[in-house]
Parts: sequence; C-alpha cells; structure tokens
Amino acid sequence: MKLRLACKQCMFDQRSALQSPTAVLDTGIYEVICPLGHKSINIIQEQKFEILFQIGAHAIIDGYYREGVSSFAASLERTYEFFIKTLYFSKGKKEEFKGIWKSIGNSSERQLGAFILLFGLEFSTPVPGLNKKNVEFRNDVIHKGIIPTEKQAIEYGQAVLDCTRAIIEIAKKNFADAVQQTIVDNMQSMSEKIPQSASIVYSGLGAILSIATERNQPFPTLAEELENLRSEKGRAKAL
Ligand SMILES: [Zn+2]
Repeated sequence: MKLRLACKQCMFDQRSALQSPTAVLDTGIYEVICPLGHKSINIIQEQKFEILFQIGAHAIIDGYYREGVSSFAASLERTYEFFIKTLYFSKGKKEEFKGIWKSIGNSSERQLGAFILLFGLEFSTPVPGLNKKNVEFRNDVIHKGIIPTEKQAIEYGQAVLDCTRAIIEIAKKNFADAVQQTIVDNMQSMSEKIPQSASIVYSGLGAILSIATERNQPFPTLAEELENLRSEKGRAKAL
C-alpha cells in the first residue's frame, strides 16, 4: 500500500496538493517536501489496527494473499491492545496501562489472554474472537508457510473484520469517552515527536475499518469493500 499525502501550503494556495505515492511508515508521521519546496508534516490519524487492516486489503487486491492474512492477523492483535488500553483509560488508569502493557507487549498469546479475561470480567456477552478453524488457518499461514488462495484470504479477513467491528462497537457503546481519550492520546504521542514550528497536516486514509464510521444499516462485506477499493485505485492510476 502506498499513501498520497498533501502539501499544506499548496492546499492553502488551492494548487494541486497531492504528492507522489509514498510507503507506509510505522510512526504515522511523514515529512512532505513538495516540488515547490514547501515543507510540511503529515500525521495519519488512523489507529494501527485500522492501518494494518487497510494494508491487508491492498495486499489482496495486489495478489499477495499470504501478506493479506498476516496483516489482518496483526490488525486483530492491535485491536485487542486498543480495547485493553481503552478499558484502562475508562477507569482513569492511563499510566498504569503503559506500565503493565510493557510486561506483555512482546507476547501475542499473553495479549490475547489478557483481552479474553478483561472482556469476560467487564461484560456478560460472549467474548468476540475467531473460531478454531480461523485460528488454525492463521497459524498455518504465519508459522507453516502455507500460501492461501484469494478466497481463503478474504474469508479470513471477513472473520477479522466481523470480530473487530464487534469489539469497537462494544467499546464505543460502553465507554465512548475513553475511546476518544485513547485516540487523542495516540495523536498527542505523535505530536510530541514533531517540532512545534512544523506545518502539520492531519490526514485520513478513508480506511475500511474505521472507528469513526457510524452506520444504521449493515456494514459492507469485505468482498464489497475490496471491489470499491479496486475501483478507487483504478481511478487514482488514471489521474
Ligand atoms: Zn507545496
């Protein structure tokens, strides 16, 4: 997946502001220098789990099904982290989260265990998660080098999407303020890494998986989302 970022000054001057495609960075912070020499910093507002899911969707469109599955799986793990962080924030324990997360941050099994236990403690509804077949499929792809078909990758991605959407909806319904605080905290952590004098642009991916999306009707399926994304990419190439 590549991003097309904007020059702040060119946007202000109502010139064509979008720059050449650039690779995704883990930091979410991008220095943009446009052909006219204007410098700005783009901050991508999406959470890590939203970005990873979008990378997975692009991988599938580009024919990299194994990479799609691996990005979807990573997205789900980061969703668990987001949920746990939000739960801690909802109880006024922001600093405690940062300390405790360090002790399990290197183990996805521990993180999953923490999510299941904390969710179970907080809610009486079943814990959202992947079924045994999808867990085994993910392990076969990640650990045994299995190369999935497009159909298998999309089915797995759909399961991750359903699970993540359920977790996000529960978080938004039960502790909306803490969800907002978690998003703001993420933005503040990024802003602290940028000089105060920098010219900043806050950008969004328009990602498939988005906390911001509110819907009164059912969400599109992953197959439908991929079709939309394919059309968008086709239009962008034609520009
Ligand atoms: Zn410019």
